[in-house]
Amino acid sequence: MELILTEKHTDGYSVNWKIKETLHVEQTKYQHLAIVETYEFGRALVLDGIIQTTVKDEYMYHEMIALPALMTHPNPQKVMVIGGGDGGTIREVLKHPSVQQVDLVEIDEKVILACQKYLPEISCALTDSRVRIFVEDGIEYVQRHKDKYDVILIDSSDPIGPATNLFHESFYKNVYEALKTDGIMVCQSESPLFNRELLGNVHKSVKNLFPITRTYLATVPTYISGFWSFTMGSKRYDPLNAEIPLDVVNRLKTKYYNADIHKGAFVLPEYVAELFR
Ligand code: SAM
Repeated sequence: MELILTEKHTDGYSVNWKIKETLHVEQTKYQHLAIVETYEFGRALVLDGIIQTTVKDEYMYHEMIALPALMTHPNPQKVMVIGGGDGGTIREVLKHPSVQQVDLVEIDEKVILACQKYLPEISCALTDSRVRIFVEDGIEYVQRHKDKYDVILIDSSDPIGPATNLFHESFYKNVYEALKTDGIMVCQSESPLFNRELLGNVHKSVKNLFPITRTYLATVPTYISGFWSFTMGSKRYDPLNAEIPLDVVNRLKTKYYNADIHKGAFVLPEYVAELFR
């Protein structure tokens, strides 16, 4: 009997994943959590029935949520990652030589534990001595920290369940205040094709707070539409004018990000650019 995971994205659009084996399933305090072995994309983390990250293509998302900001900021030392319990973003952040401390704020400890057990290639950096893990709601955590971080990455699940309020302007305002005077924030801002209204609202909210607001795209094959958006709010440094430290980039041994991708990612097709006019 074939095992199929059906990801229902809209009433008219679902994606079927052929599953070799279900390795772990539990209902946590916040969401339904599963780790599955897929035929096409290897092992994957699934939250509330939606594929979050897969071994085959996770590097595309994790490099692109972390590196544009880290290469735009001239000296990123203190970084916060909100969400990101799989550890992939943390792994990318720690590759940057100037990073001294990364605070992970993940609401659901079960995600961390499951990914450490079943997705070691993604969660491997969570035990690094520069990482501090706070198991709590990112919404509350940011309210307690002012003028403290060089970069804050909001690596959230979709705006359902515990992540719903991570897409509100009031949250971005607290993120703004948790950043130093030259800090940079990046949030994953969903699909430019399926979540157009949300993406437009995120961009507007960030623009209301930050002097520099840039949305950029990356391909993430396992996400709906295959294209994914990220929205950057920067207090001082413009990613379009960033002097990309090529020596650092070459040492990172990336599989997606490079200096040309950095520039190209911010060049938007009309169907996306029109959302921000
Ligand atoms: N799309 C991402 C990726 O490709 O890796 C998903 C990253 S991670 C799985 C998303 C995390 O955000 C989940 O582990 C979830 O528990 C966490 N999360 C959701 N709402 C949160 C909140 N309010 N505060 C902190 N973490 C939250």
